Amino acid sequence: MDIIHISAECYPVAKAGGLGDVVGSLPRFQNELGHRSKVLMPMYRTPYLYSHDWEVVHKASTNLGHWEFDYTVIKEKTNAQGFELYLIDINGLLDRETVYGYDDDTERFCAFQIAALHWMNTWDKLPQVVHVHDHHAALVPFMMQHCYAFKRLQSIPTVLTIHNAQYQGAFSWNKTLYIPQWDSWKRGLLEWKGSINPLASGIKCSWKVNTVSNSYLHELSTMSNGLEQLFEYEKGKCTGILNGIDYTVWNPAHDKYLTDHFSILDAKAGKEKNKRILCERFGLDPQKPLFIFIGRLVGEKGADLLPQAIIDSFRFIGRKMNFLVLGNGNAATAAQLTTLQSIAQGDYNAFIGYNETLSHLMYAGADFLVMPSRVEPCGLNQLYAMRYGTIPVVRSTGGLKDTVIDIGEPGGYGITYNNATVGDITHGIYRAVSVYKQKEVFRSIREKIMVLDFSWHRSAEEYLSLYQSFQ
Ligand code: ADP
Repeated sequence: MDIIHISAECYPVAKAGGLGDVVGSLPRFQNELGHRSKVLMPMYRTPYLYSHDWEVVHKASTNLGHWEFDYTVIKEKTNAQGFELYLIDINGLLDRETVYGYDDDTERFCAFQIAALHWMNTWDKLPQVVHVHDHHAALVPFMMQHCYAFKRLQSIPTVLTIHNAQYQGAFSWNKTLYIPQWDSWKRGLLEWKGSINPLASGIKCSWKVNTVSNSYLHELSTMSNGLEQLFEYEKGKCTGILNGIDYTVWNPAHDKYLTDHFSILDAKAGKEKNKRILCERFGLDPQKPLFIFIGRLVGEKGADLLPQAIIDSFRFIGRKMNFLVLGNGNAATAAQLTTLQSIAQGDYNAFIGYNETLSHLMYAGADFLVMPSRVEPCGLNQLYAMRYGTIPVVRSTGGLKDTVIDIGEPGGYGITYNNATVGDITHGIYRAVSVYKQKEVFRSIREKIMVLDFSWHRSAEEYLSLYQSFQ
């Protein structure tokens, strides 16, 4: 099959979170299964752009409302990622160093989607599936089906993958001209609660919708930032497909970000080496169990609960463990995590920022990963952590519920708790410290998690079955 993924992120070109990881690997696995899967994304000014060779494949101009803009499509010459990678350049909108967070994000992603379809409209051979990801690309199904300019693309099946339903990209009807001409009686397909809501429109117009875990899909009918009813109406076309992880990138035996590699055969020694490097760098004690948190410092991830959970752990369990936090996001949470450095020096440290290299070292060197998420569509951190022999201590929600079984259950290998509260997190940490003391139990859990199979093969097949249901 010929598949095109349209996305705002794709690792290693540009990544802000799990979306980037998924779009950077799923197409390669689809190609390995004998299909032709490619990626189209905005041309940001990230280091990847300058370290690869590109050819220009298309140049044209089109409109965002009354504004006529030029765009250029370039292709990476060597298919270095294992798939054809195309970037769309729109000067003044997409030529930024980071992916999101600009006042004109609505204009940026509307123009990106229009340019994407304007270009696809010129292809001789059209794709068999257009697969869009999250709200930044979720107007594509509406535009393909209802904008006069893209009538030629009308009958191509579309799939929307929701990596995160909290962010919907809603904007005012004042910007209605951003959508190329369509019949105004179809406005219900764009609208949700009084605004143009790209994610809601994608859910209504895509042939199939999937979320990145089954439990998350079920939760969306009761908790999806205002879209609950819509998920209830549309549940017939929604499925859950758990993300895979890319073992060519995420493998402690040959991770390019690590200097000390290890496998299940020498996990104890290998992890100790990485832990020592981490502890030296952050002034921690390698004799104590090391708990890490990696992620966006936002309410969804429960990051605001961390400072108090760390203080309470020291207070109620004693200074028997170390914590290291890597994250960026909410300024107040970041400030609290920074303040904690002086209070708990020697047992706690934090790196506020985004650092891919450090994240790999942390997965490799830590003993436990804490994820107190309030919402977790799939969660990749726990999957990476397990591959690197780091035991997850997680709130049982969304994808965490589908991938981590508590050690109290038959066949269990992680520590889970029900509520995103300081009390539950602290209790999870207490249980983890007890496990750490039982060397044999700790070793056997570590060995068990390192060989769990969360590879893309299974998920890539599930996506293909979804596409094949259109034929
Ligand atoms: P999200 O909701 O943020 O997409 P996921 O668990 O799906 O959450 O994916 C998070 C990805 O982003 C993982 O690869 C994780 O290691 C990475 N990540 C998150 N924050 C940081 C950070 N501050 N530095 C480095 N990597 C990070």
